[in-house]
Amino acid sequence: MELIPLTPVDRRENLRADCSRCVGLCCVALAFARSADFAFTKDAGEPCVNLDDDYRCVIHPELRSRGFKGCTVFDCFGAGQKVTQHTFDGASWRDDPRVRESMFAVFPLVRQLQEMLWYLADAAGRPEAEPLRSELERAYRETEALTAAAPDDIRALDLDALREALSGMLGRASELVRAATPASPAAQRIEPGADLMGADLAGQDLRGANLRGAWLIAADLRSSDLSNADVLGADFRDAELGGALLESTLYLTQFQVNAATGDDTTMLPDSVTRPTHWRR
Ligand code: SF4
Repeated sequence: MELIPLTPVDRRENLRADCSRCVGLCCVALAFARSADFAFTKDAGEPCVNLDDDYRCVIHPELRSRGFKGCTVFDCFGAGQKVTQHTFDGASWRDDPRVRESMFAVFPLVRQLQEMLWYLADAAGRPEAEPLRSELERAYRETEALTAAAPDDIRALDLDALREALSGMLGRASELVRAATPASPAAQRIEPGADLMGADLAGQDLRGANLRGAWLIAADLRSSDLSNADVLGADFRDAELGGALLESTLYLTQFQVNAATGDDTTMLPDSVTRPTHWRR
């Protein structure tokens, strides 16, 4: 399958999970441990007992009530369909045991690459990051090419080194985007990696804040303004986002939104879907 150059809007679409073109890879390749997020323990490579013959979850509408909150939070950034349809040309671990080990090893690696593409696409689509546009575009193309490599070549990649190389570029793009929004005193006080677990940030003006890697677990962010704030790697588990403004939040992912709680008044970017488990 040939990879076709995409517009910025198409790029984000291409980085969204399409379970209909995947062979249930997240439900087989990944391990999970019995916890508040999963009702039982499962080894990597072991098919979940709730996965049916058509690679669908038989308890999908009841995942949260049945103790599988973690499944409603996970997002593969489109790695599932890419690995299934492109890397393995439509093969399935179920029909072809020869591809099992390789397919399960490659899936989490491609997911990491797809996540990097998500951040690069976000940065490249920002008018404020225009001075870095060609650099970001080149990095996007080169990273996308890696996702199209053969399984053994993907397994040989040094993803830590790649992430490190991209981190600086994404950080410079972040500075340009955040500089376009004069940060409030509250936003200026926040440091990257800040411990804001359970913090009361309701109604705060956090425009342009650097929340990279921040711990926002169970933080109250109701009606806060996170416009142009950098949230790369921030932990939003059980954060309350009702009424929050996130339409232009930088590096926001579906995974982070799924992990948080919100409602119909939360303003989200078009690239992110409102989770079905949020309040209506
Ligand atoms: S419970 Fe459903 S969504 Fe979760 S791993 Fe099992 S089959 Fe997949």
